[in-house]
Amino acid sequence: MRISVRQFTTITLLCVIAITYIGMGFYFIQQQERTAKVIHKSIYSDLYSLSYTLSKELANKSKEQVPSIRPILDRTAIDNDFVEAVLILQDNNLIATTDPFYDKKIIKNVEYFENISMYDEVRLRTYAEHEVSFYRINKKYSYRLVFIIDKNEVLSYFTEYNVTSLIYLLIAPLIVFAMIFILMKYLLAIPLEKLRQFAYYQNKVPSSFLLKELETIRHSMVQTFSRLEQEKNELYIMSRTDELSGLANRNALDEYLKHLIETSKRKKTEFAFLFLDLDDFKSVNDSLGHDVGDELLKHLATVISSVIRDNDCVARIGGDEFIVVLQDYKSLVELTTIIKRIQDSLSQKMVVLTNPISINSSIGVALYPQNGTDILSLMKHSDIAMYEAKNKGKAQYHFFTDDLNQRVQDVITLDKDMRQALVNKEYKLFYQPKVDILTNEVVGVEALIRWDSPLKGLINPLTFIPLAEENNFILELGDWVIEEAIKQSKKWMDEGKNISISINVSTKQLLDMSFVDKVASLLKQYNVDPKQIDLEITEYLLLKFNENNSNVLDKLREIGLSISLDDFGTGYSSLSYLKKFSIDYLKIDKSFMDDYDDKDGAIFIETIVKMGQTLNLVIIAEGVETAEQVAYLKSIRCDQYQGYYFSKPLPAEKLFL
Ligand code: C2E
Ligand code: MG
Ligand code: MG
Repeated sequence: MRISVRQFTTITLLCVIAITYIGMGFYFIQQQERTAKVIHKSIYSDLYSLSYTLSKELANKSKEQVPSIRPILDRTAIDNDFVEAVLILQDNNLIATTDPFYDKKIIKNVEYFENISMYDEVRLRTYAEHEVSFYRINKKYSYRLVFIIDKNEVLSYFTEYNVTSLIYLLIAPLIVFAMIFILMKYLLAIPLEKLRQFAYYQNKVPSSFLLKELETIRHSMVQTFSRLEQEKNELYIMSRTDELSGLANRNALDEYLKHLIETSKRKKTEFAFLFLDLDDFKSVNDSLGHDVGDELLKHLATVISSVIRDNDCVARIGGDEFIVVLQDYKSLVELTTIIKRIQDSLSQKMVVLTNPISINSSIGVALYPQNGTDILSLMKHSDIAMYEAKNKGKAQYHFFTDDLNQRVQDVITLDKDMRQALVNKEYKLFYQPKVDILTNEVVGVEALIRWDSPLKGLINPLTFIPLAEENNFILELGDWVIEEAIKQSKKWMDEGKNISISINVSTKQLLDMSFVDKVASLLKQYNVDPKQIDLEITEYLLLKFNENNSNVLDKLREIGLSISLDDFGTGYSSLSYLKKFSIDYLKIDKSFMDDYDDKDGAIFIETIVKMGQTLNLVIIAEGVETAEQVAYLKSIRCDQYQGYYFSKPLPAEKLFL
């Protein structure tokens, strides 16, 4: 059986209180007895001393003279509180008394108490008597000297005493009991409960205790727990860290990937899983020793960590094998740039324990989710790709599938060539007329870029503009397009031709803070009327606007340029956007024109035309290839069209104007 501190305290206190009560009860009885003795003694000592006095006084007095000694009797009765009256009797006849009340009340019966306590005797006894004897002419005379005990006085004496004793006996221990109980509770029971909770949950550290022993236990517990916590953390870190390099180990990598795969799945994002293996690391170990090999690995670990971003991850999973996980890259070009950066920084010449070393690495790349959606398949496929990189001559990276590898290579080549093409002046602007539906007259042209590659011939913008937008090359290329178009405008102006030019500008260009100034200064430089220039923007731009940049369209219109919303209907456009932003032209995308003879397609085109008319916009249909389409557009009162039906985009010199 187990008892709680509270129960233990209660039982102990009950025992203590029982013993106290018994002790005090015993003391009380003794005290009562002692008091009784005092009263008894007081009565009897007066009785005996009066008896003695009287034996002398009465020796020469006759029976009739006895009452004359009454003053002596009175004094005794007055002096002693417990004596109510003093009587002198001869046999049973009253001879003298202090109280006339007893004149006739003759005390006959002798009170006889046996085997009772002094307290009971004093309480029960009503009188005390003693013989007063003396000799007169050799004859013995004797009287009875009787003290009538004042019962009230005696009892009240005890009552008073009993009440005080009761107070001490009952209430005082109760108060003491309560106090001890409270103290035990606050000093022992509550702290122990706190310690129990602390031991169990280890969350809230109890504040210090008053009792020294408990405080020592608390202190030791705090110290032990913090040591255990520290050891746990150390073990946790150790279990996730590669001892040699200090990088994450396989455990930590698995944990990181589990989390990353979950978020990538949810957000539908991609990440790259790189399997990196050092080239010919074995020969470093064999020729320079393991110490140098270890130092080299340590150094390379810091190199890789320093070139990747914070939320990327690098782990060492074997001798010279590392896994690098890269995320948040914007394009394959950016990804390959990072991979190249890792390889370049690893291959830097370094001095390890006085040995100059330079080492290359081969990297296999698997992409999530295309090449694997779980850790094992990513590991396996990147490993295969890494071997492919080794096979192809080491010191390079390889993507998992040949197809992907080819695509990456193509993108990289395109990226390089595209930039070089600008230097080589391989870009050209073609122009496609915009025709008024009613008059069939050319009202303007749209400038469309072409890449005239000496190797591949004329390249369509759709093959390089998306990549240029991805890697920001569009900013440079776009500048060239604008300048080129403005130059052409000036040329036509000088030739006396009044042709406005629509220039396609990408979102990134327009969101560039210096765009408006750039356009304005070019117009000024070539002395071109801004009214001759129209800028084609896409719906996507409108979504990108915020309070800081949404006035760029207003600024351009203030200069005098007009704005066309290109490819309308393919994006996220809504009526509210059209109302909110300053736009002059609305270009219906070619995909709608393809379906003009379909009922749903027609409804769409007509809705756009009506909406545009309501907003006072000029509506231009793109990709018009047939006379039927033109007739249809005329019937629904579309303003202008553009398309192969009238003319394909052509170089300026070949343009029929
Ligand atoms: P876009 O601005 O919508 O240009 C219209 C595209 O439709 C042009 O393709 C044009 O050649 C084509 N097109 C016009 N009429 C017809 C037709 O009747 N039938 C067919 N099948 N196609 C027709 P292009 O020149 O290949 O340009 C494609 C896209 O590339 C353009 O679409 C534009 O978004 C972009 N782009 C072209 N030049 C530039 C430029 O200088 N800067 C920027 N940022 N983007 C440009
Ligand atoms: Mg366009
Ligand atoms: Mg278009």
